Amino acid sequence: MVKTSCVKHPFPGPRSRELFARWERVEAQCAGYQAKVAWDHASGVVVTDVDGNIFIDWTSGVLVTNVGHCHPDLVAAVQKASARLLNNYECLTEERVVAAEKLISVLPPHLDKCFFLSTGSETTEGAIRIMKRKSGKFEIISFYGGFHGRTYAALSASGLASPKKGYGPTLPGAIRVPFPYCYRCPFKADPANCGMLCLEFLEDAVRANSTGSLAGAIVEPYLGAAGFIFPPEGWLKRLEEWLRARGLLFTLDEVQSSYGRTGKFWAMEWEGLTPDLVCIGKGIGSGVPASAIAARGEVIGALGPGEMSSTMGGNPVSCAAVSAVVDIMRREKLEENALRIGSLMKARLLEIMERCPYVGDVRGMGLVMGVELVRDKRTKEPAPDLTRKLIDVAAENGLLIGSVGVFGNVIRVAPPLVITQNEAHESLDIFERALALL
Ligand code: PMP
Repeated sequence: MVKTSCVKHPFPGPRSRELFARWERVEAQCAGYQAKVAWDHASGVVVTDVDGNIFIDWTSGVLVTNVGHCHPDLVAAVQKASARLLNNYECLTEERVVAAEKLISVLPPHLDKCFFLSTGSETTEGAIRIMKRKSGKFEIISFYGGFHGRTYAALSASGLASPKKGYGPTLPGAIRVPFPYCYRCPFKADPANCGMLCLEFLEDAVRANSTGSLAGAIVEPYLGAAGFIFPPEGWLKRLEEWLRARGLLFTLDEVQSSYGRTGKFWAMEWEGLTPDLVCIGKGIGSGVPASAIAARGEVIGALGPGEMSSTMGGNPVSCAAVSAVVDIMRREKLEENALRIGSLMKARLLEIMERCPYVGDVRGMGLVMGVELVRDKRTKEPAPDLTRKLIDVAAENGLLIGSVGVFGNVIRVAPPLVITQNEAHESLDIFERALALL
């Protein structure tokens, strides 16, 4: 088998070291922890750094480049559109109409309207605004560990403390309730026979905290930033039914779970969910900044003219990318590859868990899996220091990984959906070797 990855030592190489030193002098260093790799170019699942080192990528940026890095059709569409028109604000272009038509064509039929924005946070912020505007109420239910972006309403709905620390009070009306993090169940229940206690608790939490002004709820199909935490089968459907029974609006934040990531085009397809609003980001442009809110027409119709806008939203270059990505996804059936390669990778990760003392949990579906690192499998003490070390050691051996998690101890296994069987096996070999070097 021909090897894809190739890293020269010493690592990082001289050009990377020079760039990092210059960068640290001029840009604030407030981003998350990453391996010392200065990216130069990429194709498919392969990233090459400025020193010519070659890596297999398990990050997809951050679950962005679903169709593969620099897919030639996407690059061509962007080049063609950008040569003609770069920005037009809200004025109409053919690219915008085509992109909206294509997006609607791949959405479940009840979501018959969309609106283009630029970032994931804009979509969650926007969806929360729409839920309030439509209902005339202001309370929003959200979940422990949830992450919806760093703008204020999105952040207020977040159930992670770290992005909120140091900024004072968040928006009133946020009612946060437990998400089923079954590996670390907040109720210390056994997921096999708990009867989804956390959903029962939702009723209590709302009774205790709502002043009677509930607008709706926002939830991710799985918790992304909190550590790729998947709810048990049926949980999301029961949540939806609970919301419907109370006449509440339902926003599903599919910013990172869509575009084939879980093995279906939308994560909502697994349980036939029918949310009123869906937040879409990351994979929609597969590297080109683009995002969208999809909605039932009567719900987003609560906004009148001039009530939502975004300087860059729906620009012709992003819209050309949105259309190209839908075409690529349909033609290459990437969700099917995600399912096939994902199950192969998960099976091997579960084997690695048996052998490695630090792998406490492996979870996920399709090509979004979390590997939770612990000091001790019995106590489940999180191991964020080992996680950071693993990121470095993996890079030194030709694999790019990143971390997430409430405790910063979960490795994201989320390669571009074009990954082949050989690339999957080679990357897993590197991963296991790197774990052995901790
Ligand atoms: N929602 C979810 C589920 C996300 O994962 C993210 C980003 N990690 C966001 C919203 C925010 O997206 P952005 O960074 O593009 O604003």
